[in-house]
Parts: sequence; C-alpha cells; structure tokens
Amino acid sequence: MNAADIRQKFLDFFASKDHHIVSSAPIVVKDDPTLMFTNAGMNQFKDYFLGNKPAPYARVANTQKCLRVSGKHNDLEEVGYDTYHHTMFEMLGNWSFGNYFKKEALPWAWELLTEVYNLPKERMYVSVFGGDEKDNLPKDEEAFGIWKKILGSEERILFGSKKDNFWEMGETGPCGPCSEIHIDLRSDEEVARQSGYDLVNNDHPQVVEIWNNVFMEFNRLADGSLVKLPAQHVDTGMGFERLCMAIQGKQSNYDTDVFQPLIQFIAGEAGYTYGTDEKKDIATRVLADHIRAIAFAIADGQLPSNNKAGYVIRRILRRAVRYAFTFLGFKKPFLYKLVPVLADQTLGIFPELKAQQNFVVRVIEEEELAFLRTLENGLKRIDSLRDKFTSNQNIIDGKTAFELYDTFGFPADLTALIAKENGFSVDEAGFEKEMQEQKNRSRNAAQAEQSDWVILNDEAETAFIGYDNLTAEARLVKYRQVKTKSKTEYHLVLDKTPFYAESGGQVGDTGFLESELSQVRVLDTKKENDLIIHVTHDLPEDLNSSLTCLVDTGRRSLIQKNHSATHLLHAALKEVLGDHVNQKGSLVNEKLLRFDFSHFTKVTEDQLRDVESIVNEHIRKNIPLNEQRNVPIEEAKAMGAMALFGEKYGDFVRVITFDKDFSVELCGGIHVPSTGEIGYFKIVSESSVAAGVRRIEAVTAVSAEQYVQEQLQQLEAIKELVGQQGSLTKNVERLLEENNLLKKQLEQFELKQLASQKYTLISQAKKIDQISLIAEKADVSSADYLKKLAYDIRNVVPENLVLVLTAEIDGKPQLAVMLSDNLVADKSLNAVALVKELAKEIKGGGGGQPFYATAGGKDVSGLAAIPAKAEELIAKAVAV
Ligand code: ATP
Ligand code: MG
Repeated sequence: MNAADIRQKFLDFFASKDHHIVSSAPIVVKDDPTLMFTNAGMNQFKDYFLGNKPAPYARVANTQKCLRVSGKHNDLEEVGYDTYHHTMFEMLGNWSFGNYFKKEALPWAWELLTEVYNLPKERMYVSVFGGDEKDNLPKDEEAFGIWKKILGSEERILFGSKKDNFWEMGETGPCGPCSEIHIDLRSDEEVARQSGYDLVNNDHPQVVEIWNNVFMEFNRLADGSLVKLPAQHVDTGMGFERLCMAIQGKQSNYDTDVFQPLIQFIAGEAGYTYGTDEKKDIATRVLADHIRAIAFAIADGQLPSNNKAGYVIRRILRRAVRYAFTFLGFKKPFLYKLVPVLADQTLGIFPELKAQQNFVVRVIEEEELAFLRTLENGLKRIDSLRDKFTSNQNIIDGKTAFELYDTFGFPADLTALIAKENGFSVDEAGFEKEMQEQKNRSRNAAQAEQSDWVILNDEAETAFIGYDNLTAEARLVKYRQVKTKSKTEYHLVLDKTPFYAESGGQVGDTGFLESELSQVRVLDTKKENDLIIHVTHDLPEDLNSSLTCLVDTGRRSLIQKNHSATHLLHAALKEVLGDHVNQKGSLVNEKLLRFDFSHFTKVTEDQLRDVESIVNEHIRKNIPLNEQRNVPIEEAKAMGAMALFGEKYGDFVRVITFDKDFSVELCGGIHVPSTGEIGYFKIVSESSVAAGVRRIEAVTAVSAEQYVQEQLQQLEAIKELVGQQGSLTKNVERLLEENNLLKKQLEQFELKQLASQKYTLISQAKKIDQISLIAEKADVSSADYLKKLAYDIRNVVPENLVLVLTAEIDGKPQLAVMLSDNLVADKSLNAVALVKELAKEIKGGGGGQPFYATAGGKDVSGLAAIPAKAEELIAKAVAV
C-alpha cells in the first residue's frame, strides 16, 4: 500500500464512523502565545476542549502537519540519528468533542490497524496510564478493561508512567491519560530471542509507538494543578510516517515512499549510494527531514528571521546546511533544489507548496547563501584565533566559542569539529555557562507572570459585534493579571464586545469600559485562539456590573480606511505585476498601511505610479462594500476570493468585495462602507524585506493629504533657495554642475600649494648624525593630502629621512611619520613605535607599517609639542 492510499484509508475509515473530515491547520500558529508551531492534531481544537467555544461537529478526523522543534515537544536533536522521529510529520487523528469516549475509540483503533491495514495482532502492544501520586490520579482501569476484552488477555498490556501515558500539550492547557499502541517490527528470530514487551517505550528503533489515544479530561493551570474539563473528549494522534513504515514492512521511516524520493535525490546529487556510509546517511536523513519543516513553514507564511518562530526555522535550515556542508560536501546552496521534489510529492494533499514553489525556492536559496557566507567568515575567524589557541594550551575557551556562536552565528558543534581537526578542544562547560548567562539575561528581561483566569461568569463564548456596533453593554466573563518587571496589566474577557482584536494585520481597537463606579482604558485588544482579550491597566471597580464598551471611533475610522485601501492595493498589484503576487504579511493601523508580497524585483517608479492610479480610480468610483458573512468556503473560492496561504479558515468565511471583478478577499477585518471614504491613496515607500518579498507602505485620507502637502512644501522651499526663474530641475542641475567645477578647481589649487609646501619643508630639514629630520606642521585639508605630502617628500629624499608631519584637519589633530627604508632596515627604527609615542601628546593612538604610520587624537593643543619631542626621540635613537 503506498503512502497516499494509507492516508486515504484512514480518512475513509473515520468518515464511515460519522466523522467530519477537516483540513490541516497551518503548521505555524498565529493566535496562541503558548505555542509557536502546531505540535499535535489537537491544537486547532484546543478551544473546544477547554469549553471556550462549542464544537461545530461532535466527531472530526484529519491529517495534520506537525512540527516538534521547540517547547514541550522537541525532537530536533534525534532527527537524522534515529529512524522514526521527524521535525515535521503528519499526524492522523480522530476526535470526539464530548461525544464518544474510551469504549468506542479503542476498538475502532484496533479495527483499523488489524482489519483495514492488516497489521499483525501478535506484534502489537498497548499501554495504559498507571496512575500518579503527585497529581493524585488513579490507574486507568477502564482502558485496561477495554483492551483486555479486545485482546482476549492481559499479556500485551502495559501500565505506563506519567511521562508516557499522560499527554499534555504544553506547560498549561488540556491534558489527560492516554493509551498508546506500539508495534514490534523486528525479525522473527529477534522476536524469538527477546520479547517485545520489554522493549516498549525503551527507545528501540523497531519497537515504536504508532498511535496515541488521549482521553482529555483535565486542564493544567499555571500553578501546576489540574481541573476537570466541562466534558470528556477523545484526541488521537497516529504518526503517518511510522504507520507507513509498519504497513510497508520497512525498518525505517526513511525507507518508505514518504522519504525515498528526497533521499534518492540527495544521495544522487552527493554522488554516493544511500546506505553505504553511516555519516553521509545521517546527513542525508537530516536534509530529507529538515527540508519538509522548512518548506512547509515558509509556505504557511513563516519566513526565516532573527526572532521567535522565524529564528526556529532559520536554525533548522542552518542545521541542514551544516550537515550538507560538512558531511555531503555541498559547498554551495543545495537545499532549495529539494523543494520541487517535495512539492510534486505533496501536491495531492498539501497543494500550498506547489502553488508557491518559486517563492519558497527563492527564500531558501538566499538563506543558504547568507549562512554559507557566515560559515566562511567563521572559518576565517577561527583561523585568526589560532595563535590564541596555542598559547592557551590547545583549548578554545568558552567565551571565545560563545563569541563565535553569538556574534558570528557560528554553530558550537562546528567550532568543536573544526577545533578537533586542528588538534584543539573547546571548553564546553565554559561555553554552556556563557549560554546560560545569556539565556538568563533575556529571560529576566522578557518574563511575564500570568495568573490563571478568574472566572466570574460561565458564558462559553464571546460574541464579537464590532462589525455593526461601536458601543455595547457587556459583562465581564473572566480576567487575569499579567505582571512583567516594568508593569502590571489585566486581560479582560467580556460576554460580547465591539472591540476588534488584532488579527489579519489589523491592529486591535482601543477605547473605554465604563460603569457607574469607574472608567477603564482599553489599551489594546488581542486574540488568543478565539478568545478576545481586552488589555487594561486596571480592573473595573465593580466586577459584576454592566460595562459600557466604547471603541475609539476616530481611530477605528482611520484604521478601516487603511484596511480597505490594502485590499485595493493587493488587487492593483496583481493587475500591474502579475498573478504571482501573494500577500506575505500586512500591518494596518491608524497611521499607515504596510503590505508585504511575493515579487522578485524592485517595483519600478512607473509600476508604482500605475498601482497608485488604479487604487485612486477605484476610490473615486465610490464602490460600495459588499460584506458577506458565513459563506461556505467552497462557494467563496468559486467567487474567486483571494485566500491567504498559512491562514486558518473555517467551513464558513467572511467575504469582502469591492467590485466583484476587482477585489474579492476572505477577510475578518473592518472596512469602509464605500471606497470614497478612503479619500486618497499615496504610496510613500517601496523596499525589500526578505528574499523574494517586497514591502509597500502607503497612507490614505488625511495622512495622504498631509504627506503630499509636506512634499510640496519642501519643493517650494527648494524653489525659493535655487531661484524662481526657469525650471526647478534645470536650476538644480546648474547648481550641481557649478559645484563640481568648483571642487575641481579647489583640488588643483591644493595640489599646487602642496608642491610648494614640499620644498619648503625639505629646506627645513635638520641634520642629526646622518639623519635628515623634518618635524613640522603641515597645511593640508584632508588625511589623503597629508599622506600624499609625506610620500612626495620621501620621493625627493629617499635616504636617511625621518619625517614627522602634524596637521589640524577639521579641528582634529593628525600625525604622520615616514621613514626611509634604509633607516627601517639599518637602525631598526619603526614608524609605528614612533607614532604611538608621539600620539600621546595629542591623547590619541595610531598604527601602520614600519616605514609609514599615522595617528589621530583628541587634543589639538598637543600638536605644538610634537616636533621637539620627535627631535629628542631621534637624537636618543641615534646615540644608542
Ligand atoms: P515518542 O515517544 O515516540 O516521541 P510521543 O509520545 O512524543 O512519541 P505523541 O505526542 O503521543 O508521541 O504523538 C502521537 C503520535 O505521533 C505518536 O504515536 C507517533 O506515532 C507520532 N510522533 C510523535 N512524535 C513524532 C515525531 N517527532 N516524528 C514522527 N512521528 C511522531
Ligand atoms: Mg515524543
């Protein structure tokens, strides 16, 4: 059975048990501060478990793109070395939201594995939760009983610890006991030698967990305690790649048809046969694995960057480049070549990658280039540190290793590897110490202490009524306190609210919550999953009374103008630049709009003007807003609505249309009733933000008017300065020409002056023994001329010359020392030593070569003393 069939059979099986099949959520998580990436199929359903929101279907199944590279579930270091942990993997799952429970879930799992996939019953083991004293939880006798009935005996049932049999999404959140299914894939001889029972949950590569059935019953709070959830749920997750390994009778996930196309391509390009060289095999697996994580994260909108989720992706990419560079000999970008292979392979199930293939390729190649440059610089840096290593008894101290890592982006394991090749070692404990210190520093700076929710009112859902209202009467449902070093804030959740929570690029609303006894400012409105959170400095005096919500209407009106203008801009860009333009990010606030989109070259002035004209034309047409709520997603797509990659859409969506032939977008944001309100649209900048991504910033309405007025005022001021007669351009051109001419004349004048100065200075030479000493103040306007003067004098006096020139340039003291070669050779005089000594007079320092050195300083008044000091030093040197 090939991988695609295996996946389909899973979905068909649960569809036949009345499950609604949903699509995978994006791999990048947007509205959840506790999670950067989807790490399990259940993430997108978190609110249903917690009871924040009713589930639209009681039974659901899907395949979910997961990434386990940060936080509670992090398998990164295993990847490549073992055969069954990946960074990105697909999790097949079925869910019950307050519907069926253990006695349905477990028999179904067994039926699917043994009757649909025909996996051998005698090779399977199951585990159930063995209880935990600290959490005061009993053994899961119910699951044990169900399994005993299914299997007909207790022989292959194990009781497991909290670590293996109590599943938690993160430090807080939904959790519960679980029951895992393991399979023993060893040969018959090996099985005869040792029972698989003892190998379950023992990191054996051929006795692996394939499926976990979690029985969600609790919510873990910030203080570590457990509270019962409002209902009991089932949440299961089966590793798709592991299932393929079991069904296809392979020893490793990488031997299945999920990975083989990538593996074969990599090995082919590296010029070796996979399976013949352990080190290269590991590297090949790392690449085959990591490219999936990188490509899908980028396709879902997470570009590599220097912080948070973007940095995690950058680190995975760099890990892959290191393995490619060190073990497979790829010294040039290579990873990007894997994208088409992967995109073709996943087209049927995750088409978003193929749809953005060129863009993803471009981003990865740029990242690779940049990192390969870093690697090269790091190697040079290590080379330059060689002397230091030797004097330190062949140890690179922790501080230096950390500096390489932190400042030069040079990975610690690579430093260790190179050091080893050169007969050095790295003080790893020292490195760790530096690392820990830095972590502590940043943790202390960022740490926020968040209390658990204080529940006042059991309303499940917050209704957002802000599309139609700017005020409302609401009640507080729950609140919590958030403390950082510098401030204390409160998060308030209301039963209904007109405040728009930041999302889709549009900033959150601000305003007031008023009651009889108090008025509280809403500083910001944010989303956490589907919760709408009002951020305030204080709590209302009277927690239980009615609150009047007042959105700042002036600000909201500016925001909505910018948001609608963003839609017009998006449509205009597609019209002018082409269909490859896709939104890659946006920011809409009361001041401006910022729109990032995929496009590979600079947008020309002409194109920008065209875009602007198209947008303004649509503003003048005063097109009315057509807002449709609750449109079935398929219908919206048929209308040609632009959906964004990496955005999570439900089955029903909101469609915003300004002229059905121009701009139709899926959008949850707030818009003007008709485009005329935008008034005027003006682009203020166009730039590059990342490889293949351009950014346009623009203003509308009053801001646009102000912007244009300012520009015109500047123009007027310039006109005033250059003269009103004739064209402005001509006048400025004339001024520039004149300026150039004057510069040239000045230069010639100075050169003449320099020539005559040269002879005056030479005539002032003093004889000290054989030496001609010229120590004088020069009259020059730049350091370049000072240097020229020194070299010119040496040309005339090639032997026995000691030249010390001082100068004041732009108010700062300067010093140049020039020696003839014969003095450097015979008398062991050194211009660097001399200049350093003399520079003390001007409170400065300098350097150069033995025959010519320069210095700058802070104290101009010290210049006068230098000629006499020079004479003294030379007299001393000659006397020796
Ligand atoms: P393991 O102990 O093997 O790391 P887990 O206990 O972390 O697994 P769960 O969190 O229960 O796994 O996830 C459900 C299923 O997802 C597992 O049974 C397994 O088949 C699969 N899975 C988990 N982590 C990975 C991974 N890193 N790569 C591939 N599949 C995985
Ligand atoms: Mg794990």
